[in-house]
Amino acid sequence: MKKVIILGSTGSIGTQTLDVIRPRRDRFEVVGLAAGGSHVDLVADQVLEFDVRVVALADAAAVDPLHRALESRAAQLGRAVPRVEVLAGEHASAELARRPADTVCNAITGAAGLLATLATLEAGTTLALANKESLVIGGRLVTRAAAPGQLVAVDSEHSAFAQCLRGGGRREVRRLVLTASGGPFRGRTRDELREVTVADALRHPTWSMGRVITINSATLVNKGLELLEAALLYDVDLDDITVVVHPQSMVHSMVEFCDGATIAQASPPDMRLPIALGLTWPDRLPDAAAGCDWTRATSWTFEPLDAETFGAVELARRAGKAAGTAPAVFNAANESCVDAFCRGEIGFLDITATIGRVLSEHLDGPGDGRPGSAHVGDDVVTLDDVLAADRWGRERAAALCRDLPARCTPATDRTQEGRRP
Ligand code: NAD
Ligand code: MG
Repeated sequence: MKKVIILGSTGSIGTQTLDVIRPRRDRFEVVGLAAGGSHVDLVADQVLEFDVRVVALADAAAVDPLHRALESRAAQLGRAVPRVEVLAGEHASAELARRPADTVCNAITGAAGLLATLATLEAGTTLALANKESLVIGGRLVTRAAAPGQLVAVDSEHSAFAQCLRGGGRREVRRLVLTASGGPFRGRTRDELREVTVADALRHPTWSMGRVITINSATLVNKGLELLEAALLYDVDLDDITVVVHPQSMVHSMVEFCDGATIAQASPPDMRLPIALGLTWPDRLPDAAAGCDWTRATSWTFEPLDAETFGAVELARRAGKAAGTAPAVFNAANESCVDAFCRGEIGFLDITATIGRVLSEHLDGPGDGRPGSAHVGDDVVTLDDVLAADRWGRERAAALCRDLPARCTPATDRTQEGRRP
């Protein structure tokens, strides 16, 4: 029986992790759940369904509503109110991640997942990592904290890399080929992107995901984060990772070896496959997801990335090469801009432009004197430096966004955190 803790249990990856576990309760026991706190009814349902004993909520104000939800759901089901330990506050998910378990699945969105990632690794627990932001911003602080095999990728591309890398020795790898769907705006020009709305950006062609990663897929910031994630996970030079646009999202990534052979991993777009592998790696979980249908004619296409229209990947590469605090600033500026875009305060193109400005200020100048504004290199960077850079990047981007004209229709309910596919 594998004991699993799920952080971000009410989100897209969290709920799909529970979907993988639901028919396999003889193999997995859910020993803890963490969530932000805006969906306590769903948390209560999860606690009752999976007999969970510990819950962590980032929002302390959600504790009483959770207890009330547990009472009312238990009454509806004619069951006794479950005894649940509730941890609350900013550090609650990290505290939960330190509890005894075999695997922690970190499916929190954004930089908020960093402390839980580090806590999991320090506790010696296997980390099934969906929360790429924590790896990207923590960089070597995270990879150094991980024992060999302790960090398992859940991101579909990185799960694909892990699978393809079994096809040869590490020294035989020539390059990683990171596939991207291209998002909802593939093929558009910069002019055409000027007036796109939040609803347009949230209409992802192949994947159904949380709000931030969906906007990140439209700007290609997600691919930028994944570029850095791949370099850190598999110790590959950033220049040896090529991004290729593959709109069908059937090939999840590829590894090219030194003899010219390319090994690809293909399956229909369904996160339950990489989630399942994240829970059982290096073994496979039978029937985790459907395979490809070869009885029907199909075509898969590949095209180069339009790096001029979608500048986020090259910005990420710049941040990754500078390393240290630069990736934290790249990510923080993005999270701030995504919020501003969803509130209708800035236009779509302003997201990448603002990230670029904030990153340049961080890398090119002496800093503005405030903590986190000046770049700290990889050799000396500390967790406090990363957290300060994260705060500064967020604030600086927000200040730049305030000076921009409002461009978009604000987000609707559909764009809120924790949306189900
Ligand atoms: P989501 O917005 O649907 O869910 C986020 C979850 O995190 C929610 O349960 C929310 O309550 C919780 N949360 C937010 N802040 C928290 C905090 N401070 N403490 C504890 N919980 C908190 O997001 P998602 O789409 O599931 O994505 C989660 C992570 O997985 C992201 O890093 C994303 O990039 C990555 N990812 C997602 C997909 C996908 O298909 N959705 C694919 C690959 C990678
Ligand atoms: Mg991905």
